[in-house]
Amino acid sequence: MNTERNLEIKRDILEKIKEYRRIIIARHQRPDGDAIGSSHGLAQILRLTFPEKEIIVSDNDRSEYLGFLNTEEADPDSIDYSDALGIVVDTAGLDRCANPNITKARELIKIDHHINVTPYGGILWVEDDASSVCEMIANLQYTFSSVLKCDSRAAALLFTGMVTDSGRFKYAETNGNTLRLAGYLMDFGIDTQVLYANLYLDDFSFFKFQASVFDRMQITENGVAYLYVDRSMQDYFHLSREQASNSVDFMNKIKGSLIWIAFIDNPDGSIRVRLRSRFVTVDKLANKYKGGGHSNASGATVYSMEEMHALIADADKLLKDYKANNKGWL
Ligand code: AMP
Repeated sequence: MNTERNLEIKRDILEKIKEYRRIIIARHQRPDGDAIGSSHGLAQILRLTFPEKEIIVSDNDRSEYLGFLNTEEADPDSIDYSDALGIVVDTAGLDRCANPNITKARELIKIDHHINVTPYGGILWVEDDASSVCEMIANLQYTFSSVLKCDSRAAALLFTGMVTDSGRFKYAETNGNTLRLAGYLMDFGIDTQVLYANLYLDDFSFFKFQASVFDRMQITENGVAYLYVDRSMQDYFHLSREQASNSVDFMNKIKGSLIWIAFIDNPDGSIRVRLRSRFVTVDKLANKYKGGGHSNASGATVYSMEEMHALIADADKLLKDYKANNKGWL
């Protein structure tokens, strides 16, 4: 297990945690498994280890499909930030943090695995090649296991984020350490049958939506698959925002289609862009549209059909150049 990497930073974080009586943890908006798992997994580890401390997870939104994890979050406006340590997980920039008040904390720590375009906080622990922040938190607990306690609840929360952010341990960032840490967490006793049932079963209507997506998705000349889930489609299939967003994954197994993009109408009229890729990287393309993220999974927002088509054209050009200059892709 790789405990040596960033050991000094991890040690600094542990020392800072020991210093404070109140610790407030926050994560990014529209939480996914890694955001929920890392914030609450860390909170659980700290509550077990330091029962005398006040450990608060505080954000102003929720996740419907992760409701089975039974996590509780405090209203950001109801907390006293003075003398508190803030820890923000899985959040590239503070503008995307689901607790806008977290900057009021006396000191701030950033723990993240996105490319560090917008650094913040007094201590930054960023590993942009880590498959999830949950993996980093699991590594932190493992590294200092003589101090930091873990139980099956913390393990299940962290495992959830590791599974979801790595695409069930399939994405390129998954390495030996990821799997060793997953095994380490499993030994605490995780009910994976229940976990996978909660994560991966879906309603009948969702499969009808999937069939419709297969019918509607399009492909550019050079192989960019894309789909526009407009408001009427969301209404017709009674889709939650998360279900509509998940449609991007339906396009991930098309041969030669190394980039795939879902455009999803937001309630405010803007269009959410979810960019995915294999072999070729798409974060710079997302940057061009004021978004960002990871090499193979990025996001952005566009505000018109013209902008949507410009992004598709840019993606097509990117893929054309990649295919012309590289071998071995599928
Ligand atoms: P998503 O498609 O929303 O799951 O996003 C994929 C990755 O890109 C995630 O790691 C997000 O944190 C990041 N991301 C999504 N939208 C944006 C944005 N507007 N700006 C910066 N990063 C983003």
